[in-house]
Amino acid sequence: MSRSRGGPDRPDVIVVGAGLAGLACAADLVGEGLDVQVLEASDAVGGRMHSDRVGGCVIDRGFQVFNTAYPQVRRRLNLRELRLRPFTPGVLVHTDRGRLRLADPTRARRACHGPSSPGPRDLAALALLAGRDALPPAGRIKHRRDRSTRAALAAAGFSEQFVERFFRPFLSGVFLEEDLETSSRVFHLVWRSMLRGTLCLPTAGIGAVPAQLAAGLPGSTIRLECPVEGLTDDGVLLGGGGEATAPIVVVATGPGPAADLLPGLTPSPYRAVTTYYHLCERPPLGEPTLLTDSGRRFLNTCVLSEVVPSYAPKGHGLVATSVLGDDTPGRERAVRSALAAAYEADTADTADWELLTVRTVPEALPVMLPGHALSRTSRVGHGRYVCGDHRTTGSVQGALASGTRAAREILADLHDGRV
Ligand SMILES: Cc1cc2nc3c(=O)[nH]c(=O)nc-3n(C[C@H](O)[C@H](O)[C@H](O)COP(=O)(O)OP(=O)(O)OC[C@H]3O[C@@H](n4cnc5c(N)ncnc54)[C@H](O)[C@@H]3O)c2cc1C
Repeated sequence: MSRSRGGPDRPDVIVVGAGLAGLACAADLVGEGLDVQVLEASDAVGGRMHSDRVGGCVIDRGFQVFNTAYPQVRRRLNLRELRLRPFTPGVLVHTDRGRLRLADPTRARRACHGPSSPGPRDLAALALLAGRDALPPAGRIKHRRDRSTRAALAAAGFSEQFVERFFRPFLSGVFLEEDLETSSRVFHLVWRSMLRGTLCLPTAGIGAVPAQLAAGLPGSTIRLECPVEGLTDDGVLLGGGGEATAPIVVVATGPGPAADLLPGLTPSPYRAVTTYYHLCERPPLGEPTLLTDSGRRFLNTCVLSEVVPSYAPKGHGLVATSVLGDDTPGRERAVRSALAAAYEADTADTADWELLTVRTVPEALPVMLPGHALSRTSRVGHGRYVCGDHRTTGSVQGALASGTRAAREILADLHDGRV
């Protein structure tokens, strides 16, 4: 039975933005019989999760991985249809004393090996951390004491040397910050999901994830290239003139546009990341493994075509390498020479690589310091709601959960006659 209440020519709900949060919110409202219109500024759904093709390669909007353990992912997505290809469970760390391999202690008999392997104290702490984070329900982790990730790792018994050599370079790529200042609750939740799930990529690119969510909505729900410029008393102002009306508006944009559209909203600080995509004749590493750098000259690098061969034309390797912040003059050259060392190749080899494209995402992940609220209400005014990873945590799980919460609060308010 339809619960539609917007009227013959107008939807019940306008959702501004077709990123993961907006798509999840729309899906839950449509599932309850509401008439929903999603207005998206760009020419595609997905927001930060987007893939396009450059020079015969699949290029994601910055290097990202897909984690199968997220509860929202399990609830909403058909994983089989995504044709997922896994990364090796574990990472390689380039150190000045050679390459260290760290495997997931819950899946590999030898958790670490290489010339600078950690001692028994760090190995024991690694196993203990795996048990403490992977086994209890997520709800229990959410109520643990919050502090910086650095303080939590010290309390977990890791030596400073191991933290510097492994955790700091690895987690810089996860949280886009180098000081291990991120909330320990967020760290433990992410660590838990890494231990419990598989890191992988969809064969068609990371954009296949939002594309699948969008395909589950009725055909006319999403309007692309339809930027919203402002909110009115009974709907939204459209870019290029015109209005769209609805009793309920959900702002599901990134944090910057959300603060512009909802003047009372405090803008959330975000972190930027740049990914360089290089095409090479011979892949410099013959396995689908993430490589980090203890010298922190880059965040992480990966031969994407070893994870998904169709990311690059046959006979070529596609290498994605990320750095914090923006693409500045000379940076790509410095990255190339750091990659020669990390991949144990000749500098001449990486000098021959073709720079295919660069992706900078200025608002990539929210800053999540200790005390960061893991979930905040979507209600911002009468008939006005907000969702997006800036209301939860910077992740696929966070964005989807935020959209879910917005839909739940809207349905509750409708039920109680508050909108
Ligand atoms: C490089 C990178 C790597 C990442 N890696 C991972 C990872 O490995 N694992 C993980 O879990 N998460 C990762 N993330 C985070 C994850 O991608 C985001 O948390 C999530 O995609 C955010 O979704 P969202 O819906 O909140 O926002 P967005 O994706 O930003 O969606 C907002 C949408 O609103 C639209 N919009 C904006 N303004 C307007 C307007 N005025 N009118 C209409 N539409 C508008 C935008 O075009 C966009 O489509 C990564 C992010 C980046 C950038």
